Amino acid sequence: MELEINVKPTAFITGITGQDGAYLSQLLLQKGYRVVGLLRRSASADVIGARLRWLGIADDVEMVDGNLTDLSSLIRILETVSPDEIYNLAAQSFVAASWQQPLLTGNVTGMGAANLLEAVRIVCPSSKYYQASSSEMFGLIQEPVQSEKTPFYPRSPYAVAKLYAHWMTTNYRESFGLHASSGILFNHESPLRGIEFVTRKVTDGVAKIKLGLAKNLSLGNLNATRDWGHARDYVKAMWLMLQQETPDDYVIATGRTTSIRDLCNIAFSHVGLNYQDFVMTSQDFFRPAEVDVLLGDASKAKQKLGWEATTSLEDMISEMVEADISRHKSKIS
Ligand code: NDP
Ligand code: GDP
Repeated sequence: MELEINVKPTAFITGITGQDGAYLSQLLLQKGYRVVGLLRRSASADVIGARLRWLGIADDVEMVDGNLTDLSSLIRILETVSPDEIYNLAAQSFVAASWQQPLLTGNVTGMGAANLLEAVRIVCPSSKYYQASSSEMFGLIQEPVQSEKTPFYPRSPYAVAKLYAHWMTTNYRESFGLHASSGILFNHESPLRGIEFVTRKVTDGVAKIKLGLAKNLSLGNLNATRDWGHARDYVKAMWLMLQQETPDDYVIATGRTTSIRDLCNIAFSHVGLNYQDFVMTSQDFFRPAEVDVLLGDASKAKQKLGWEATTSLEDMISEMVEADISRHKSKIS
């Protein structure tokens, strides 16, 4: 009798229903992986998974029930799934919400990573682990261009929680020899970005105004600048980190920073409108502490991983505006 040997590598992704989880799943499926995702219990199970459906891959991934805050669920899952690679993308990921729910953010975004690292240490210490660290950890920037060597100065409960997760990843690598890497990713967007983030809020607003469904768009601080790339490019860097012999930390960025004001200009211009006729500011969207500027230096990733951002901000914003116009058209037709 011949034994059936499963040669497909297995990836386990927390946050699979989010923006990056969807694009990473697509990439790993294309590479021939078995993809297993963590699904948290929700009363809205029918709408969860919309991003995976949008990419046409919802039936190609396996879902397992659990929660990043429940260590026992993670241990059971890792025992059953036996992953080769683990991508920890799950988080309360919205900075503004982290002042409203600081403890939940700490529990999920910070302690959640510690739970998963513990589960890996107990169950499968030879699996490779990716931690979704964030440029928000640079916060009140200590250098004009931020690299792996730039000191951190977090400015929100979200960033503080991410910093804890980041250092736990480093610590478990150094203490227990885990193949654990952190990607310090600068903002990355796509048509699958959550509607509350500024790029998607703007492209959705442009679509509604263009179609006559809204008259204006209310935003907060237009002077902040961000280094925005495309999520589809950025998930490739996650995978590349786990293919390296040695685990390490990498900044992933485009090296260009743009203000919210200029972002509005790009998005409204795409449909032939002047943003100044439609954009208003409201104190409701200003933050208790702001991250004024982010600008990343990804030269280490280029040198060691051969990774580079390939999508321009203009192309990405055009793709997002077009996707939002299609979404709204299909609702009204
Ligand atoms: P999203 O907000 O789109 O996705 C977050 C994911 O986490 C969702 O799948 C969500 O599930 C899941 N989740 C939240 N809480 C729990 C929990 N308690 N247990 C299990 N799953 C949970 O984030 P992105 O895809 O944009 O980002 C991916 C990761 O990268 C996040 O950790 C984010 O903080 C980080 N990051 C993102 C950047 C960006 O610009 N996008 C920049 C730098 C870092 P559900 O669908 O049920 O809500
Ligand atoms: P963040 O970098 O993870 O906080 O990503 P966001 O897209 O939420 O915010 C990016 C920047 O846009 C921050 O400096 C916000 O203060 C600024 N911003 C200005 N107006 C808005 C708004 O209406 N919504 C959001 N989310 N951000 C805004």
